[in-house]
Amino acid sequence: MQHIYADPTFQMACDQFWMIAEHLQIPMNMRDRLMYPKRSIAVAVPVRMDDGSVRCFQGYRVQHTLAMGPTKGGTRFGPTVTIGEVAALAMWMSWKCALAGLPYGGAKGGVYVDPRKLSGSELERLSRRYMQEMIPFIGPHTDIMGPDMGTNEQVMAWFMDTYSANLGHAVPEIVTGKPVSVGGTYGRRESTGRGVVYLIERAAHLLKMKLGNATAVVQGFGNVGAVAAQGLAYKNGMKIIGISDISGAYYNEHGIDVRAAEKHVRQRGDLAGFSGAEPIPADDLLTLRCDVLVPAAVSGVIHGGNAGKIQCRILAEAANGPTTVDADKVLFERWKEIFVIPDILCNAGGVIVSYFEWVQSLQSFFWNETEVVDRLFRVLEQSFGAVIRRAREEKIPHRLAALAIGVERVVKARQDRGLFP
Ligand code: NAD
Repeated sequence: MQHIYADPTFQMACDQFWMIAEHLQIPMNMRDRLMYPKRSIAVAVPVRMDDGSVRCFQGYRVQHTLAMGPTKGGTRFGPTVTIGEVAALAMWMSWKCALAGLPYGGAKGGVYVDPRKLSGSELERLSRRYMQEMIPFIGPHTDIMGPDMGTNEQVMAWFMDTYSANLGHAVPEIVTGKPVSVGGTYGRRESTGRGVVYLIERAAHLLKMKLGNATAVVQGFGNVGAVAAQGLAYKNGMKIIGISDISGAYYNEHGIDVRAAEKHVRQRGDLAGFSGAEPIPADDLLTLRCDVLVPAAVSGVIHGGNAGKIQCRILAEAANGPTTVDADKVLFERWKEIFVIPDILCNAGGVIVSYFEWVQSLQSFFWNETEVVDRLFRVLEQSFGAVIRRAREEKIPHRLAALAIGVERVVKARQDRGLFP
């Protein structure tokens, strides 16, 4: 069917949805309502560049389902952003929030731009203008924004300031992932990576596998990947033998000094020229023999062409949609060899702590970091247990089990609310 979302990532989200719809026997007349976004907004974002010229960027916001409460989702600044990609990410957010039991529907936003090519002041003008264009469509009880690839705490502070300036008073609850100084929560920046590490520990425990001295490979060395690598190396004593980012992939069989790599990225912007490891072809990273593989960058990196060559015991999907439906078929076959922690479970730590941040901002009542982390682990424990139980009971792969729980909860809410009018 022709539609504005035509894009491989959206197709992938739809194929997954269709698989789960068959499994759950969702009535045909509900399927399109569940799959296609409820609302999509496309805006032109004109920005004055430092040289005086004006460039116009394409910005999007997709609100996938309104049945569960306000929508919630990050904003991605990236050179591959399309409305279809944003719609796929919004759909996954709906299933992810429902799986974690959060009172949100999924949303996502994005701007088609390479943020690395902008100066700091250009990035600020782009962020503020994007938020300005979105103000009529969002709100603390309508749609709450957060960070994603290419955006960070500073961008969230600009979003919050722009929204607040328009209303004439501070509205910290309009965004999550903002700095603590303007009403953010302790532990948000680390939350996704921390959740990934917690779930790897739980999977290792189930598999009776010792993590000390075991090996890990992490693709993507940003907010999520770097925090996950730190937790695996310094909390669990693992050897991180491979890392990568947009500049390339790097290997060291004796283990990479994660702090040195982080320092290098802080000083130089990316891993290019990092002397603590050998550069290797980017495509070889994911097929390195290791105990734990963590894709923490872009979607679709594990596909029909490489899924059979992956050599890990635990695949922890920190990124959104790293595994295509073709690859899934291969991984389903290899379920005894590879324990998959599916994305909507694996990276849910981010939205769970975002929910805590929203609650704190609404109440102006703040928690300390220990409370945040304890509650995060409690929610993850429940979700992990539910997925493992469902997979065992129905003899289905973990991804199908995770999606079944999430999609089923959205279906139930839709059915209970009925069709208006
Ligand atoms: P980020 O922008 O902080 O980091 C992204 C990293 O990936 C960077 O190191 C970048 O250089 C690298 N990268 C980009 N393209 C790459 C490629 N083709 N190959 C290898 N590396 C590449 O982003 P992030 O917040 O860490 O997000 C990473 C992933 O996690 C995304 O899929 C995002 O949707 C997902 N995620 C993030 C959060 C969050 O809280 N930030 C929550 C849930 C899911």
